[in-house]
Amino acid sequence: MEIAVTKTPLPPLEEYIEYLRQIWSSHHVTNNGPLLRELEGRLRTRLAARHVWFVSSGMAALQLALKASHLTGEIITTPFSYVATAGAILWEGCTPVFVDVRQEDLTLDPDLLRAALTPRTRAILATHVYGHPCDVDRLEAFAREHGLKLIYDAAHTFGCELRGRPLATYGDVSCLSFHATKVFHTVEGGAVVINGDDGLAERVKLMRAFGHVGDVHYSIGINAKNSEFHAAMGLCNLRTVDAVIAQRREQYLFYHELLTDSPVRLPTPGTDDFQHNYAYCPALLPSEDSVHDALASLAIEGVRARRYFHPALNCLPYAAGARCPVAEEAAQRAICLPMSEAVTPEVQRRVAAALLQVVTPHVSAA
Ligand SMILES: *Cc1c(COP(=O)(O)O)cnc(C)c1O
Repeated sequence: MEIAVTKTPLPPLEEYIEYLRQIWSSHHVTNNGPLLRELEGRLRTRLAARHVWFVSSGMAALQLALKASHLTGEIITTPFSYVATAGAILWEGCTPVFVDVRQEDLTLDPDLLRAALTPRTRAILATHVYGHPCDVDRLEAFAREHGLKLIYDAAHTFGCELRGRPLATYGDVSCLSFHATKVFHTVEGGAVVINGDDGLAERVKLMRAFGHVGDVHYSIGINAKNSEFHAAMGLCNLRTVDAVIAQRREQYLFYHELLTDSPVRLPTPGTDDFQHNYAYCPALLPSEDSVHDALASLAIEGVRARRYFHPALNCLPYAAGARCPVAEEAAQRAICLPMSEAVTPEVQRRVAAALLQVVTPHVSAA
């Protein structure tokens, strides 16, 4: 059997069917239905956030966050993230200004912010990549000093807590993804989390549903609503997400044990007082060639690892940005190791052995 980089956890079918019965009897299938409101309520409690809007995707959450913040001009952002981060900026007609990341945890480097600032800078959009928390204090201080909005792509952060507070509640706005590949999922979906500004939260809520309530049209909007079927999947998965995280933790720690003191570098969160969700196990191999070799030799083992993230976003053909050497090198060298319920310790040993063989050929020769 082939082992993929991840395997979407599905709830016991009976539990989902129970929600389907409720949908069939209410006949409310979408448009702010009862299951959606129940999910939003539970997420507000779990995240201890003032406003949580469930939307159709993480990408839509980013688009709404930028649009409802009335952003134009330049947005300082990270080159090391999924393409949606820079894509949302460009889609909203703004200009991404890429600032390189830190070596250790691959989040935006606060030392480089000042050099990227221009009179047209309006916001920072930073990613807690792999769930590693950005330097929230320094980003916050810089944003306040220069009157910038601070928005986080928090797609990887479900279950992460920084200083006892969910990581997805930092910044003016945080955007979560609940895509099937994420540690907590609703098949497709995402959320906009706003812990302060009620006016901004109201605009996001309006804009996700065409900008109107009944016959009163307040603003332009899009269709970023989500359905009762997706909310039902979220309600089921909320029951098991902590068990999923506990399993990822075991796998993450075992990979780290197997690969310790090797030429494989394992980026980790750069701060204490942090609770990780262990959603990804990123590994940096010594070179791009070794990445190709490793993927090929894992494929022979029936294991698919993934280059994640590649390319660096400043190198996208439509986003010509300044050089970001740390991110570009990480993008060439990074893979994410398989983690899911299908990944047994035996699979992990095989993955680690294959990597070690690639990065230290002399070991196999000995
Ligand atoms: C998955 C992801 C997104 C996009 O989320 P979707 O729900 O797939 O639209 C955005 N940013 C990052 C960093 C992601 O990993």
